[in-house]
Amino acid sequence: MENGSTNVLKPMDSEQLREYGYRMVDFIADYYKTIETFPVLSQVQPGYLHNLLPDSAPDHPETVEQVLDDVKTKILPGLTHWQSPTFFAYYPSNSSVAGFLGEMLSAGLGIVGFSWVTSPAATELEMIVLDWLAKLLNLPEQFLSKGNGGGVIQGSASEAILVAMIGARDKVLRRVGKNALGKLVVYSSDQTHSALRKACQIAGIHPENCKVLKADSSTNYALRPELLQEAVSKDLEAGSIPFFLCGNVGTTSSTAVDPLAALGKIAKSNEIWFHVDAAYAGSACICPEYRQYIDGVETADSFNMNAHKWFLTNFDCSLLWVKDQYALTEALSTNPEYLKNKASQANLVVDYKDWQIPLGRRFRSLKLWMVLRLYGAETLKNYIRNHIKLAKDLEQLVSQDPNFEVVTPRIFSLVCFRIVPVDNDEKKCNDRNRNLLDAVNSSGKLFLSHTALSGKIVLRCAIGAPLTEEKHVKEAWKVIQEEASYLLRK
Ligand code: PLP
Repeated sequence: MENGSTNVLKPMDSEQLREYGYRMVDFIADYYKTIETFPVLSQVQPGYLHNLLPDSAPDHPETVEQVLDDVKTKILPGLTHWQSPTFFAYYPSNSSVAGFLGEMLSAGLGIVGFSWVTSPAATELEMIVLDWLAKLLNLPEQFLSKGNGGGVIQGSASEAILVAMIGARDKVLRRVGKNALGKLVVYSSDQTHSALRKACQIAGIHPENCKVLKADSSTNYALRPELLQEAVSKDLEAGSIPFFLCGNVGTTSSTAVDPLAALGKIAKSNEIWFHVDAAYAGSACICPEYRQYIDGVETADSFNMNAHKWFLTNFDCSLLWVKDQYALTEALSTNPEYLKNKASQANLVVDYKDWQIPLGRRFRSLKLWMVLRLYGAETLKNYIRNHIKLAKDLEQLVSQDPNFEVVTPRIFSLVCFRIVPVDNDEKKCNDRNRNLLDAVNSSGKLFLSHTALSGKIVLRCAIGAPLTEEKHVKEAWKVIQEEASYLLRK
């Protein structure tokens, strides 16, 4: 700072916010308008940005124009455009006007609501909107905040699994004794997201006690309850302690749906905590016609869906409901002197710091509240239905082309397909599908991803970006067909 008070920073100058804020909103609105002009998958090389930006931070202020200019010329080329209408690679991460406004409001208010007292509205709004959504999903009453249960916003499905597992771990250790950690066993199908493996690593579960049960095409990659029962019985006989089961509604590879009711029954009779991961597909279950896919959730101890995937709520906003909030708070609460306050001491309030890993937490419920209020449940249901219809149409196009096959039946808005093998040569077929993926993605016109199902390389087309319309899916299919016919001629 050069000359004293004249240069004192005013970081919350209302007039500057007004001026810059308009400009920033204009910039983002223009980005949305022109998003189709960018290659969906960024084509830059590793380290590209080092060559474009200075080695050290500026000593003196720069203007917002200078920064936005750099965003345009240096940052946007290094983006993979998740909001592009032809982004089909991973499950979506929806942005929306409502979600964006909620995010903006949260940033502007700048509160940190770890305990009720630190901003009562933040805690109470979170409880209310999670109850609203639990009702839209028709979750059992035990997940509502009026009893022992309730919902909480986590940063990710990975945190949701971890928090549930830690709650379950400490609950079982209170029953069997704290020295039994090495005997605790976790179950899931081999289609479960790697977030479960990570949770086990963090929660101190022995790698050999993470039982990964095989799921195959005979059940469309859903976990067979008999396999679970067999594994649990064997572990009990060996003196191990089954304590956690992760079921799936909409696996990452192929949207497999595990039979929740049958799995939950086994979990219940063996005192196993049953967590349901519906990170992507949970959103669809607000539609009455898709609610069947979470039938059996009444047997679960915890349920998770990411509102930041397919529910128009900007990242991050992962919703976790539990029936027994005390399982979480017993495992995760701390009570240092500097955080003590009358409301918490009197047990009158929820302190969400005790339902999560970090202390600090953002006012994330605002954006979900904005989404629910600015769009309404019926519009949101139709939003989901439209994506599912587009996926259904694509599934039909794929199945009509003799060069292709749909590998697993589509349930929601993910289509899993591949070029069919020629002369039963599966190896060559896998190579060809890998090449197709590379060709399609380097075209910049769309972005797909892949997975492996029973050794087959499969392309994933996940429809769910807010700007995607019928024409985008049709165009994308044309590009895929063209690239495939070129490869098949080789
Ligand atoms: N579970 C499923 C089914 C997923 O598809 C994903 C990510 O796509 C996750 C968990 C992990 O999500 P997050 O990034 O929120 O941890």
